[in-house]
Amino acid sequence: MGRWFSSTLKDVLEIESDCKSFTITHKECAVNPTPELTLEHFHEGLVKRSPGEPEFHQAVMEFAEFVIPYINGNSKYLVPKILERMTEPDRTIIFRVVWEDDNGEVHVNRGYRVQFNNSIGPYKGGLRFHHSVNLSILKFLGFEQTFKNSLTTLPMGSGKGGADFNPKGKSDREVMRFCQSFMTELSKHIGENMDVPAGDIGVGAREISYMFGQYKRLKNEFTGALTGKSIEFGGSLIRKEATGYGCAYFMEQVMNHNGDSIKDKVCLVSGSGNVAQYAAEKIMHLGGKVVTMSDSSGFVHDPDGLNEEKLAYIIDLKTVRRGRIEEYAKKYKCKFFEEKKPWGIKCDLAFPCATQNEIDEAAAKKLVKNGLIALAEGANMPTTREAINVFLDAKIPFAPGKAANAGGVAVSGLEMTQNSIRLSWSREELEERLKDIMAGIHQQCVTYGIEKEENYINYVKGSNIGGFVKVADAMLAYGVI
Ligand code: NDP
Repeated sequence: MGRWFSSTLKDVLEIESDCKSFTITHKECAVNPTPELTLEHFHEGLVKRSPGEPEFHQAVMEFAEFVIPYINGNSKYLVPKILERMTEPDRTIIFRVVWEDDNGEVHVNRGYRVQFNNSIGPYKGGLRFHHSVNLSILKFLGFEQTFKNSLTTLPMGSGKGGADFNPKGKSDREVMRFCQSFMTELSKHIGENMDVPAGDIGVGAREISYMFGQYKRLKNEFTGALTGKSIEFGGSLIRKEATGYGCAYFMEQVMNHNGDSIKDKVCLVSGSGNVAQYAAEKIMHLGGKVVTMSDSSGFVHDPDGLNEEKLAYIIDLKTVRRGRIEEYAKKYKCKFFEEKKPWGIKCDLAFPCATQNEIDEAAAKKLVKNGLIALAEGANMPTTREAINVFLDAKIPFAPGKAANAGGVAVSGLEMTQNSIRLSWSREELEERLKDIMAGIHQQCVTYGIEKEENYINYVKGSNIGGFVKVADAMLAYGVI
């Protein structure tokens, strides 16, 4: 006793057992109590350790707001400084990527892999090719991935990577040369049991294929070191549908928890890309009525609701013809609202599936006023912090992306499993597994997010703490490393 501020594992264990044996909480422990962690103090340390990384600070602090009170009530996490350790990536790898364009000109880009945390499985997270890529953004994304992956209950650690290279406007050969050069270095740091990257913005089937081809060539082995592969060489069925389907399944869980369902509910969906298309499809399968879809030019309002034919039209419009959503309004004789977002339309359920910050405080207030029952984020961070507070204050179930859009990475995890056992599962089997995983995520949110007095589930708190606990317990078990 009496060595509270020592940092050896032995001391930490001694302290814990001392506290336990007197069945008093850490806060009450009479001898030299460890001061509670404050948001301000934690923030100061974070900025000192990682200066000039605003996106990373924002993501960590939003998480810390919910997790610090929990940690302060659980000395086993407070004393060994689990939060401080968890907000420092295991390692970051930064490297030069040199490639030649079609005119023989040499270009130099910067490649990254942030291996954030492998406490519960190999590092797992996407690669992003976009001119805005920098260390702060990748650390923010890698950090968030830790808890999303943990919530899926699959054995996946977290990582994120990419390069400040934009494939838009580049020829196919140029993209191939870039991907091969990028993988020549990255291949030293990844592997099916070490780190398994996937796609993200700017990295689709084409880029994954070029990178997988190069990895295979360099290593002279065929292993699942990347996910998002084509079906012919180890990809998984329903990966394309997984994020949207998962989001709708999550909402069904939210509704069931309150003795209701999606059936007959009027639903607003934003976006008309991958996530929006398959969220809309599953909402329809579950009996909901999807009355809006949008793109970056505005939204369409179809009060009769989508059906299979109309959705097939949208999928073709956006993925084959690459047209604008306004064409839907012309074809199906409904209204198009230029440069507007759909949140002013009266609805029961909302599914933002387009992009970040598409629901601000004013939009949230409108939704609440119009009788919104619940919201599930298909996109990453589509709701601003202020807007989230509007929903939480109104006690409306608000399912954050960390929980509601985890279906995509969950099926990537299932791709890893299929690769390891060298088998491919059927659509039906994968969909059943996806449904179970989303139900499992929901249950974790209920366990850690219930506000007992009001019987309200705070899904933001629940997903943050639920994601945290599994990783934190694994880190504790490993000792001070
Ligand atoms: P897509 O590129 O397929 O679709 C994006 C959609 O959002 C398009 O309809 C696009 O319109 C629209 N959009 C883009 N910018 C704006 C804007 N400023 N205002 C309004 N609409 C806009 O992307 P995904 O569907 O794959 O991803 C959507 C979101 O979901 C992203 O936040 C992504 O990070 C997140 N996500 C995706 C996962 C996946 O598996 N795909 C997994 C987890 C999260 P337009 O056609 O005009 O460009």
